[in-house]
Amino acid sequence: MTILPQPGILDIRLYEGGESRIEGCTNVLKLSSNENPLGTPDVAREAFARAVHDLHRYPVTDHAALRQAIGEVWGLDPARIICGVGSDEIIHLLCQAYAGPKDEVIHTEHGFLMYRISALAAGATPVEVRERDRTTDVDAILAACNRRTRLVFVANPNNPTGTMIGQSELRRLAEGLPPQALLVLDGAYAEYVDGYDAGAALIAERDNVVMTRTFSKIYGLGGLRVGWGYGPRAVIDVLNRVRGPFNLSTAALAAAEAAVRDRAWVTRCRTENARWRDWLARRLAEMGVPSDISTANFILARFADTAEAEACDAHLRSEGIIVRRVAAYKLPHCLRITVGDEASCRRVAHAIGQFKGVR
Ligand SMILES: *Cc1c(COP(=O)(O)O)cnc(C)c1O
Repeated sequence: MTILPQPGILDIRLYEGGESRIEGCTNVLKLSSNENPLGTPDVAREAFARAVHDLHRYPVTDHAALRQAIGEVWGLDPARIICGVGSDEIIHLLCQAYAGPKDEVIHTEHGFLMYRISALAAGATPVEVRERDRTTDVDAILAACNRRTRLVFVANPNNPTGTMIGQSELRRLAEGLPPQALLVLDGAYAEYVDGYDAGAALIAERDNVVMTRTFSKIYGLGGLRVGWGYGPRAVIDVLNRVRGPFNLSTAALAAAEAAVRDRAWVTRCRTENARWRDWLARRLAEMGVPSDISTANFILARFADTAEAEACDAHLRSEGIIVRRVAAYKLPHCLRITVGDEASCRRVAHAIGQFKGVR
């Protein structure tokens, strides 16, 4: 073969989304993609429906109304916000713009798979750094940095572990990076953590930190693909140069704007999630299935070994329940379980209880 893609691209292993079907099963409970059990806010669905009248028009290119809304709600400067096709696109643009051949992109041992994929797509070298007890280890990241380090991705809270590190650790990380490296704080689950600013204060003080956020999780808009980033003006300016001008559809922009203005939705979902997450974690622990303290909308259930995790997964499937196997995240003895509504949490806890022989 003489027609070859850029180096790195053939090393990409395709990302697999959470499964949603089980052959021959109608009452499937999908807890594999960290989707919001409460669905989408009504205001967002209404805004989406209204957009049907404008489908012959091109969308705006500057996303001004959505950036304004995000800025108002989160107390951020709209001029420093960029909107993308999910936060995945922001991650992709960061790699495209800041990392290339011979550059290194750091991600953590159990970090989100998209960091590695986007780094390879840009021709850069992904560098995996170990975690400590399934938690981001700032010292290990700093030790892995060198002259080639261009980007450092940290999801906080992290997926699939659910753990997070505090403000002082984040600050220590940002302060310790080499001058040419940018810290990317992935805040896909930030809204689930009461009082967490997702790195906004750090970004206000420094010029080497960016945050990414999404409408796919607490806002229940995963199917629509909207995310955003916030950072130094110079970085946002760079990303806008490589972003497609019409990357977000009119319908997506309208729905996201309505969703972000629905502050009551976020409070309600955060409260419900915390309640049932903590209930589920406690029930599983009582059955001999521990998990780390999760700050997100899922828990990482730990089993004795890979065989037990696989057997439990098979049992759950036989009961019509889909959770996420996380062997690709180097956690073959774990299952990631999205926190559903009360009925879903009770159903999955009951099934795991059956599996463990607990009554
Ligand atoms: C779900 C998730 C995202 C969101 O991706 P979108 O492209 O916005 O849907 C980003 N980062 C992490 C760690 C996630 O788990």
